[in-house]
Amino acid sequence: MLSYQHAYHAGNMADVHKHTLLAWMLDYLTRKDKPLSYIETHAGRGLYDLSGAEAVKTGEAASGIALADRWFAQDHPYARALKKVRATHGDTAYPGSPLIAQSLLRPTDSIRLADLHPQEYDALRRVARSQNTQVFRQDGFELAHSICPPTPRRGLLLIDPSYEIRDDYDRLPKILGTLHQKWNVGVLALWYPILTSAEHLPMVAALKAGFDTALCSEVRFPPARKGHRMVGSGMFIINPPYGLEDQVAWLNKKFATLR
Ligand code: SAM
Repeated sequence: MLSYQHAYHAGNMADVHKHTLLAWMLDYLTRKDKPLSYIETHAGRGLYDLSGAEAVKTGEAASGIALADRWFAQDHPYARALKKVRATHGDTAYPGSPLIAQSLLRPTDSIRLADLHPQEYDALRRVARSQNTQVFRQDGFELAHSICPPTPRRGLLLIDPSYEIRDDYDRLPKILGTLHQKWNVGVLALWYPILTSAEHLPMVAALKAGFDTALCSEVRFPPARKGHRMVGSGMFIINPPYGLEDQVAWLNKKFATLR
């Protein structure tokens, strides 16, 4: 039974970290005039209202994108995606990763999104309706295994689990290994939380041991609430696009100002 709902967390500092790197990578990949595949295993509902009851209840967006907004120049791909989505859906809208991808990708690119939660899937299907987009109510790992290597062959896969299932930490290094074997040119990006319990550490160690040329970006931020276990955000990226290190270094400096 899935209970995680991203509406409570949309636009928090973990989203700012994940979505900045995602937007930068998609923008980089579209600089070449060749179509690409974007695949997401855990897509969420795609669009959030930061003035909605869920966001107001946790206050995570208020200490997330509301603070970080000023870090971004207008032509940064993340700022461009935010602007585009807000122009259509209003000033308090916040795009999830599927809408960030739709904002930055081209009609010739292929977008495939999975979410297993019935309500998240329904909402996503409504908001992400587009010629180049397919939405699946399916286990995201099953979808990725079934379509990798995708057509077009260039592209990016985002894995952004809610880690409701403890096993995820144990099985992710193997899942990434299999997907990398099937799609050796694909950019594979995994998000994970940095937890006071250190639960993520064995997974990160296994990933680093398995993929020595991958890029691992970790940022820290104050917990959303007193006693909140998440104190940072990690992105592990296999086949990182050229120049991503500079974006990571820039982001590190911005997050350092929060301490
Ligand atoms: N990637 C989204 C974003 O950045 O806007 C947020 C996704 S949220 C962290 C995780 C989502 O995964 C939830 O909507 C949940 O319903 C979904 N989910 C959980 N287990 C899943 C599975 N096995 N396959 C597909 N979706 C799953």
